[in-house]
Amino acid sequence: MALIVQKYGGTSVGNPERIKNVAKRVAKWHAQGHKLVIVLSAMSGETNRLIALAKEVQSTPDPRELDVVVSTGEQVTIGLLSMALMELGISARSYTGPQVRILTDSSFTKARILKIDEDRMRRDLDEGCVVVVAGFQGVDDAGNITTLGRGGSDTTGVALAAALRADECQIYTDVDGVYTTDPRIVPEARKLDRITFEEMLEMASLGSKVLQIRSVEFAGKYKVKLRVLSSFKDEGEGTLITFEDDIKMEQPIISGIAFNRDEAKFTVVGVPDRPGIAYQILGPIAEANIDVDMIIQNVASDGTTDFSFTIPRGEYDRSKAILESVCQHVGAREIRGDRTMAKVSVVGVGMRSHVGIASRMFRTLAEEGINIQMISTSEIKISVAIEEKYLELAVRVLHKAFDLDEVVA
Ligand code: ASP
Ligand code: MG
Repeated sequence: MALIVQKYGGTSVGNPERIKNVAKRVAKWHAQGHKLVIVLSAMSGETNRLIALAKEVQSTPDPRELDVVVSTGEQVTIGLLSMALMELGISARSYTGPQVRILTDSSFTKARILKIDEDRMRRDLDEGCVVVVAGFQGVDDAGNITTLGRGGSDTTGVALAAALRADECQIYTDVDGVYTTDPRIVPEARKLDRITFEEMLEMASLGSKVLQIRSVEFAGKYKVKLRVLSSFKDEGEGTLITFEDDIKMEQPIISGIAFNRDEAKFTVVGVPDRPGIAYQILGPIAEANIDVDMIIQNVASDGTTDFSFTIPRGEYDRSKAILESVCQHVGAREIRGDRTMAKVSVVGVGMRSHVGIASRMFRTLAEEGINIQMISTSEIKISVAIEEKYLELAVRVLHKAFDLDEVVA
């Protein structure tokens, strides 16, 4: 008998029929004798609807009041699921975040969880009751309702699992696990049985958006085993996100190919090569809250150097304006910008103990005539910036080159 936290996303509870299906699934686990805490999102589209409603009344909604409004979506689904469970003869009780007492700080719309009171949940669980908790919300010290940021129900699930020292936190969603890459680009992409937290963080931040990234960080920190599963399929073990020691020896060196389309690049040409230049260029960009990713500075030849970096494409115009004034100030020759960049990364903890991954990656891209414009590496990831038009080709050939394609027997 285990203590399991299950989280169901918005599409899984999108209408009464689906809520009844969730209840049936919960009932199955309950029949096996497990203690269950269920965390729910609002019905899909509901949080957007509530935000739009608020904006119709106040152009920039007051954050405290916005949280009062948007937290209602989850209150509906938890009540409905408890009813659906009762219909199946299972005792169930729903709680909002404040009722559990999920204590957060007071940063409305992006609050952080500070402490969870688990007594009430434990008492119910000991009585054989299924506990149903609203995701995405909490309460601050002064009793104000807070919310945790979009997608925050994942974090509620993980936080409850950590507080209750649950055996596993299962995230039920509309995909059946984490894939080696996006199956829309590579139909041969495989579902991974296991992946480490570190790899998942690299995959998630690079575009395989299955889980809210904060929840993965949280789970890694508090050693909560996370499993991603489909709420629409009955079979399958999903993908377990776990610790490196739990991953079998025969795990492939590379776990996946991640990518991000929406990148842009700037090169500041002919910058005088003297101390403080990188700071003078990137300081104002950072102050404007623009996220810089890859950075390259060349060796100087004639006392000047070229300085390149990538940013999210949406920040192109803002960055350009900042650079133009910086450029005059530091005496650079010119600024070159390119809005159509993409980033492709190979990710795998196996890289730590294997050489030749980078050269295999570069050879594969060279064979297709894809020019690498920038490179960055970490212990478990190699990323390259390329022209966006080559993105899909690059992902496909790398997926194959690293033996990630599904083996068809
Ligand atoms: N309902 C919230 C949102 O749509 C929280 C969540 O679903 O995780 O962002
Ligand atoms: Mg979600």
